Amino acid sequence: MLRKKLIAANWKMYKSPEQTREFFRAFLPMIAGHERSEIVICPPYIDLHAAVESAQGSAIALGAQNVYWKEEGAFTGEVSCHMLKSAGCTHVIIGHSERRQFFGETDETVNLKLKAALNCGLTPIVCVGEVLEEREAGLTEDVLRRQCLRAFDAISGERAHKLVVAYEPVWAIGTGKTATPAMAVEAHLTIRAEVSKSLGDDLARKLRILYGGSVKPENAKSLMSEEEIDGALVGGASLDARSFAAIVMY
Ligand code: PEP
Repeated sequence: MLRKKLIAANWKMYKSPEQTREFFRAFLPMIAGHERSEIVICPPYIDLHAAVESAQGSAIALGAQNVYWKEEGAFTGEVSCHMLKSAGCTHVIIGHSERRQFFGETDETVNLKLKAALNCGLTPIVCVGEVLEEREAGLTEDVLRRQCLRAFDAISGERAHKLVVAYEPVWAIGTGKTATPAMAVEAHLTIRAEVSKSLGDDLARKLRILYGGSVKPENAKSLMSEEEIDGALVGGASLDARSFAAIVMY
């Protein structure tokens, strides 16, 4: 099964609107003519307007790094799926480990956000992954199964056809440590098997599973050459136009 690779940039809490424009001015010529992979950039909310304007006429899609599941209301500081769509987003990252670690995100809130994103027609990129202690205790498979089971609870395969999952071992995020292609493939197979149970075989076969965790120009090719790795979620190395372009062009 040939799945089109997806390479997504997570800018975290970096860049102003002007720096966003500068990034696009440098980045777009570097990837001109590239069609092999889908490219998505997820800047902070405040930069979405500048990103939408800068990406106009290119094939680059835009995403947010988080969303709230309610449609509107007295939820100070939150942003809904409809708001993201009207700002020009097509994608949204859900359950990033930094949100789980610092902002109280749980498997249950991931499930609520995922349902809201699917209902609204956004493409959700759901992050799962183990922390170092869990890997060292041999619990990686259990953790991935649990995160998937809870994230996909009460969702049907038909409804989830846009779903993308990112396997992001927490010990590899922003640390310079990368999972080997073999480690990533093993985790992806666990996730795919779990998705098959929750959402059906057909969806599991078509599902794109990205790898994230210190992806850089130097390791992108070895990771992305694996059939089981359907792209990358890139943090630090996506902030620089040259290094993100090198990853896209791997
Ligand atoms: C991320 O933020 O999702 C990520 C993978 O970060 P980094 O590439 O910096 O490890």
